[in-house]
Amino acid sequence: MIKADVLVIGSGISGLSYAIKISEKMPEAKIIIVTKADEDESNTKYAQGGLAVVTDFDNDTFQKHIDDTMRAGDGENDLSVVKMVVEEGPKRFKELVDWGTNFDKKDGELMLGREGGHTENRIVHHKDITGAEIERALLETATNSKNIEILPYHYVIDLITQHHVPGKELDEGNINCYGAYILDEKSNKIKKITAKITLVATGGAGHVYKNTTNPIIATGDGIAFVARAKGKVSNMQYYQFHPTALYSKIDGMLFLISEAVRGDGAKLRLKNGEPFMKKYDEREELASRDIVARAIDNEMKITGDEFVGLDCRKMNKEKFLEHFPNIYQKCLDEGIDPFKDLIPVVPACHYLCGGIETDKDGQSSIKNLFAVGECTNSGLHGANRLASNSLLEGLVFGHNAAMKTIELLDKNDFNFEDLKAIPEWNEEGMKMMDEMVLVSYLRKQLQEMMSDLVSIVRSNERLEMALNKQKEISEAVKQLYKYSILSPKLSELRNLVNIAELIIVQSIAMKENKGAFFNKDLV
Ligand SMILES: Cc1cc2nc3c(=O)[nH]c(=O)nc-3n(C[C@H](O)[C@H](O)[C@H](O)COP(=O)(O)OP(=O)(O)OC[C@H]3O[C@@H](n4cnc5c(N)ncnc54)[C@H](O)[C@@H]3O)c2cc1C
Repeated sequence: MIKADVLVIGSGISGLSYAIKISEKMPEAKIIIVTKADEDESNTKYAQGGLAVVTDFDNDTFQKHIDDTMRAGDGENDLSVVKMVVEEGPKRFKELVDWGTNFDKKDGELMLGREGGHTENRIVHHKDITGAEIERALLETATNSKNIEILPYHYVIDLITQHHVPGKELDEGNINCYGAYILDEKSNKIKKITAKITLVATGGAGHVYKNTTNPIIATGDGIAFVARAKGKVSNMQYYQFHPTALYSKIDGMLFLISEAVRGDGAKLRLKNGEPFMKKYDEREELASRDIVARAIDNEMKITGDEFVGLDCRKMNKEKFLEHFPNIYQKCLDEGIDPFKDLIPVVPACHYLCGGIETDKDGQSSIKNLFAVGECTNSGLHGANRLASNSLLEGLVFGHNAAMKTIELLDKNDFNFEDLKAIPEWNEEGMKMMDEMVLVSYLRKQLQEMMSDLVSIVRSNERLEMALNKQKEISEAVKQLYKYSILSPKLSELRNLVNIAELIIVQSIAMKENKGAFFNKDLV
């Protein structure tokens, strides 16, 4: 057993900024960050467009950013949370710069981009690789902090709470988190890391669908293990589909064509060159993501085409190359010249607006368990996230959660009594799975089902059918889980099955279409 003051699960913007903050203020605290792949592998690393923050006070105001966020969220956001995040934004952004992150400037002034749903230019960015630059700077700062230890390839299987005590009835108002069971993938041993405070910062769950812009780590693990420990999870019906991922014949992670490209003037066209966005929204290409994604989905259904085109041919080439070098290169690698050809794009699962319920300090419904970032329902996004608000959310909530954690560590009023009754991880009687083919078969079935039945446009019949299929897959996974020695792939499958159930059940409970959620029977 390893003991820490603070256990952080995840090394994206949320986990790293939280850990750095505590480390700066409490150099004596022992902080362990576990992460299931390379340190930098995260949704954060792939963020392109940038971070939404009010910096140009001559043209922009907090109120405009608040209004844009509320409009995108279809009014389902918590206004007091939106206000807090927007108003804290500039301070947290300054800290990010102080930690060594570089943002694009011209003549000493920040260059500000515009994305769908924003009424002003307010996106600070580093070319089209903003996330990679943020991840680099944060990892460097964390690695240089004496009291932060980062453990890559440490896969968290489950939280340690009273739900592991055999025969214990759970009093949902009184569950305590004591750390986590973690599989060290190098030694293949399960470690128990106990901590006074645990932070879940495990990001999204894009791989519950067939096509997603998310990297392979995004399997909703944190949300699933919090739900299993009876923590509150909500708003899972609001999964945002990004309108413009680069079309590919191969399923899996799709390359994103940032919204900022449309912000700079790219137009959507059918394969035959006909524009169509005017039919759907007066803001056309700059309408919010749910509207643009549904419009593309609808046009693809009408025409039977596998993609629509993004037309950059009239854009300023020099400016494009300066702002989007990575996107330009990726297109060339795929044999597409954005200045001669339409870029083939499709909507893909992108951002989970719901998740683990937290308060303004990132506290979950489980004692001593915090959650920050894409794995949460913090109240910021409501029914749909405004573009580039998520990196900001990670920073603001990372800060608040760190401040509350420090307060709790100072008080030092922790009770580890129940921990004694929690058993060690037991693999007795279990066997290695002979074939991983069963895991990949069930994962594919789940992704197919979610993509066909619980996608951009849902219906009552499709959701009922999805729930039946989910139950069938869930039963098969339970059997595998009972008798097999644990592997990350099997555990991820169990988590994805949990995530699918949360999305379907919370979709069925909806009586009205809101933001990213659309059921054609509710029109
Ligand atoms: C292609 C793309 C472009 C985007 N562009 C933007 C943008 O321009 N602006 C913006 O604001 N947002 C953007 N987003 C969204 C944004 O990147 C994410 O919402 C944000 O980075 C999430 O940060 P996070 O720290 O919460 O999670 P992540 O950055 O996803 O980090 C999650 C961490 O948890 C770890 N983890 C997960 N499960 C386990 C487990 N079981 N055990 C141990 N570790 C685990 C992962 O390995 C990873 O380190 C984009 C997302 C994508 C995919």
